[in-house]
Amino acid sequence: MIKAPRGTNDILPPETNKWAYLEALLRRLSNTYNFQEIRTPIFEYTELFTRTVGETTDIVQKEMYTFEDKGGRLLTLRPEGTAPVVRAFLEHGLDSKALPAKLFYLGPMFRYEKPQAGRYRQFMQYGVEILGSPSPYSDVEVIQMGVKIAEELGLLGTTLFINTIGCPECRKEYREDLVEYLKDQISDLCPDCRSRIDTNPLRVLDCKNPECRKVTQDAPSVHDYLCDECEAHWETLKTILTSLGMEYTVDPTLVRGLDYYTRTVFEIKWPPLGAQDTIVGGGRYDGLAEQLGGSHIPGVGFALGMERLLLASDKGEKPIDATCPIDCFIVVAVGEDDGFSDDMYIRGFQLLQDLRSSGISCDFDPLRRSMRAQMKHADRAGAQYTIIFGEEEFRNSAVSVRSMKHGWQKQIALDHVLGFVKGEILGGT
Ligand code: ATP
Ligand code: MG
Repeated sequence: MIKAPRGTNDILPPETNKWAYLEALLRRLSNTYNFQEIRTPIFEYTELFTRTVGETTDIVQKEMYTFEDKGGRLLTLRPEGTAPVVRAFLEHGLDSKALPAKLFYLGPMFRYEKPQAGRYRQFMQYGVEILGSPSPYSDVEVIQMGVKIAEELGLLGTTLFINTIGCPECRKEYREDLVEYLKDQISDLCPDCRSRIDTNPLRVLDCKNPECRKVTQDAPSVHDYLCDECEAHWETLKTILTSLGMEYTVDPTLVRGLDYYTRTVFEIKWPPLGAQDTIVGGGRYDGLAEQLGGSHIPGVGFALGMERLLLASDKGEKPIDATCPIDCFIVVAVGEDDGFSDDMYIRGFQLLQDLRSSGISCDFDPLRRSMRAQMKHADRAGAQYTIIFGEEEFRNSAVSVRSMKHGWQKQIALDHVLGFVKGEILGGT
């Protein structure tokens, strides 16, 4: 039998209900914070990512699904959302409209990674971007929204890590000093980090290897190299966070993997998740639009992994309810006299249509199994009411309505049953 590709997930009911709930929550919060949805293609020209995410990053070096199409174009399944959003923003001239633009996206991303809990090859991200605002208030707005999402899902004990990595100006001198320091200790670094020294020395700082950690603990800090503007931005950011009573931890080794970040970077972690505990990651990317051939448009945003958020929710204080109950279920007795039970069945089916037309969710058993089996089916579907077409009642032009929740059962005349059930379920409308 053919199976789904490694690192991908089929999402089945009732799990899909959790996804629908999470998506609705994210859309509602997007609206609360005034972000509007943008949808970009699943694949882009490979160059978009190599030029922005960076030639030396894990994403570009190891993780991209890249292919040539029949026209000989080099395309890549998007590994992340920010570069495509900025590409579309520039392509459609949104920079000449009212700024800042506040956009959100929600959709699948693709990375060729080693699959494990919370790490897949196709995964869903939700992300927000504020384009056209250099203000640290915008940084806080996106950080605050990330925290808010975790709160709404009942995730207690999230930790917010923030850092600044300066701008290309202040990083120039810093980079030189960092490289010099790392070269002195090269024998203590892992093979990956040894090759990063020349290509992407900042990435050495967030290597998880304990030996590398020892080396980086005493490495020069970018905080000592910040230019006046970056310093002011960083101080204001912290002041605003403090004034909002938001707790944060400054992590000088937090640099994030992507080349396009400038100044603020942040992550929100939820430790009970274990190894893959970062649920939200983001930062500022003031040079990205220029890198793509546009004008200078500062930006800030975050992305979150929806699978990880759902894993967290399941372990949290307020797990999302996966059930999606229906209002009622129609049960029809299977009688000896087939003609008679056929009548009941057709009448039951008509009632089903009437109820559905009124917006009441309901179902029946098309297989005409025993009443017991039908009642079980009703139970599985989470029906609040069952409407039972029994032979005796039907002879008197009536049916029984049973409340599964309250346990009562009433006989109702067939002509009134629609009105009765509507009254019960829709509250008399
Ligand atoms: P990580 O360090 O966990 O690999 P990252 O820095 O590569 O994360 P980002 O590019 O910042 O991740 O993506 C933002 C969020 O998307 C992550 O915090 C995580 O929740 C989620 N995410 C990233 N990669 C994956 C993946 N392969 N599978 C599932 N979720 C992912
Ligand atoms: Mg990664």
